[in-house]
Amino acid sequence: VTAAAAPSVLAKAAIVAVGSELLETTKVDTNSLFITEQLNAVGIDVVSKHVAGDDRAVLTHVLRSALAGVDLLVVCGGLGPTDDDLTREAVAEVLARPLAEDAALVDQLKRRYASRGLSVPMPLNNLRQAMVPAGGVVLDNPNGSAPGLWMDHGAQAVVLLPGPPRELKPMMRELAGARLRPRASGVAIVRRMLRISGRFESHIDQALHPLYEEWAAASPPIAATILATLGQIELHLSVRHASREQGAAMLERATAQAVGVIGEDVFSTDGRRLEEVVGDALSSRGLWLAAAESCTGGLVTSRLTDVAGSSRYVGTSIVAYANEAKTSLLGVPEALLAAHGAVSEPVARAMAEGVRSRAGADLGLGITGIAGPGGGTPEKPVGTVAIALASSDRTDARTFRFFGDRELVKFQASQAALDMVRRHLRAE
Ligand code: AMP
Ligand code: MG
Repeated sequence: VTAAAAPSVLAKAAIVAVGSELLETTKVDTNSLFITEQLNAVGIDVVSKHVAGDDRAVLTHVLRSALAGVDLLVVCGGLGPTDDDLTREAVAEVLARPLAEDAALVDQLKRRYASRGLSVPMPLNNLRQAMVPAGGVVLDNPNGSAPGLWMDHGAQAVVLLPGPPRELKPMMRELAGARLRPRASGVAIVRRMLRISGRFESHIDQALHPLYEEWAAASPPIAATILATLGQIELHLSVRHASREQGAAMLERATAQAVGVIGEDVFSTDGRRLEEVVGDALSSRGLWLAAAESCTGGLVTSRLTDVAGSSRYVGTSIVAYANEAKTSLLGVPEALLAAHGAVSEPVARAMAEGVRSRAGADLGLGITGIAGPGGGTPEKPVGTVAIALASSDRTDARTFRFFGDRELVKFQASQAALDMVRRHLRAE
């Protein structure tokens, strides 16, 4: 008596990103982050990630080692028509399956090419995209010519997806919902992220310690990781739960506990970035914000206007880099600049009040600082930034000392300025 083997549960996955550009200095593999998110959502863990250049020997070697010990291998990139696209051939070699031209795919490629109305006939190398390893199932690519492929390999599964993110994403979503979910354990990995400002990582870590222990002892346990960058701390919570809803409810409680301990320094518990949180707060109160930016060079306004709908609260901002600009555009008195220096709380206040009244806004920000690497003095080292926030009844100012290079100082200054607005609106 022979019984058909039940399909194995897909629990562990490896990802191979293919492309020599991913080994250079300007391009990073972002596809694997999206693939991971989709796999995690159906309860598949990613246990290793690999990046391989467009080289047949390297690729077969990496594919073999990535495939060992996982249930699912997802390979992205290198499915195009050109000679450097070797994924199909390398996978066929590793799985020992001959490649054959798929007549339906040839048809489809020809029709797709014809629909573009080009006068030259389809280059023959396009037909490489119609080659399918024996037993391979074609996955439709609605946004490009390179189809994806699915192959069962014993108890394992191998998936090939095209590299361009706009092609890969819808295919990966479809794959997760249609093919992977029924084969996965159903234990979802639920995640939640809290964003925190104005504290050091060590403070947060210490404050949360009792909660870590409680979360680790929960059933199922909640994992917590802190990621600190300059200007922002992220607390990542995750739980593996047979019920996505119950997992989410556990993280909802854990989030409330963390907020209870950390307080108003938590600015986001739902994935929103600081500029979105500030924008939502301004928008819901019907307030306008104007910024006078010196050392940030417009970064605060740029971040605010990254958010769709920002025209509801951003009307005028002024980049006043030179002292003369601070005087002529914002009305900062020359005497004030001479007495205190451009990087000072009095000047930040005058900038904030100047832009507020000139823009006719409810709130005015003034930001002036030394981004470096030059320009520091013993009293005002590189990273010194004065920030003021003017409202109808008062102007508050603070001086910060940020670490890091020019870009980091600018980012932290923009973060501190937006955070001042957030805290002001909270307190109202
Ligand atoms: P390919 O499928 O190798 O022809 O990939 C085409 C393009 O997709 C590349 O030029 C990249 O811009 C992009 N791409 C490929 N792999 C990745 C990846 N892992 N992450 C982000 N973009 C990628
Ligand atoms: Mg490529």
